[in-house]
Amino acid sequence: MTFLGTGTSQGIPVIGCKCPVCNSSDSKDKRLRSSVLIEYQGKNILIDTGPDLRQQSLKNNICRIDLILYTHAHRDHVSGIDEIRSFNFIQKSEIKGFGNSELVNQIKKDYSYIFQKHNYPGLPRINLEVAEKKFNYLDIDIYPIEVYHYRLRILGYRIGELTYITDAKTISNEELKKINGSKILVINCLQINEHLSHLNLNEALDIIEKVKVKKVFFTHISHNLGLHKEINKRLPKNVQLAYDNLVIEL
Ligand SMILES: [Zn+2]
Ligand SMILES: [Zn+2]
Ligand SMILES: [Zn+2]
Repeated sequence: MTFLGTGTSQGIPVIGCKCPVCNSSDSKDKRLRSSVLIEYQGKNILIDTGPDLRQQSLKNNICRIDLILYTHAHRDHVSGIDEIRSFNFIQKSEIKGFGNSELVNQIKKDYSYIFQKHNYPGLPRINLEVAEKKFNYLDIDIYPIEVYHYRLRILGYRIGELTYITDAKTISNEELKKINGSKILVINCLQINEHLSHLNLNEALDIIEKVKVKKVFFTHISHNLGLHKEINKRLPKNVQLAYDNLVIEL
């Protein structure tokens, strides 16, 4: 798994911001919008198509996408959707995508030009379907995990021994059970102060207490969380901040 981006909606540095995090010379304090690429048996699974997808694909030499898993339809997670064209051109086929019904309806509305019957040539081709129950890809079971982003119902995913959750604010105990036994949990952690729609540091740590996982990486990080180096030092042993271009072997 490669972290293509680990930042919140504005990314870090934030345009025009003069804070120490935005001005840090540490490359780990530079964060594109959140997304990961999972490579398995020669196939590439992409979670979300954020606004930095072009840059992320070039940086990490991504040459094909076999499956897209969408968490929700906020712009920082979908607005790179047009970059999928490049992969359609190479692969000469459409690409399968999954999300919950809210996401599928929203994307089909917001990007209606992609999903019309008679497409203008050269548009992205994505076969977007609703997945709310367990499904199979290659030989791995993928479980959608339902979490709440304030009042919006969005999805995290358990993919074999990896769980990826972003933009959560609350997760029911029933859904938390699906995380148990994961080797790696990636979960959002926005900042120190409380936020209406995202877990802050204390809330993210509380969630980790409730699940049995080996290792945790925080993502979807805001400049308000603090410097990578300083926050990392304060975290429990099995928890660390993710950073852009970090590669994890599973
Ligand atoms: Zn987001
Ligand atoms: Zn800043
Ligand atoms: Zn969001």
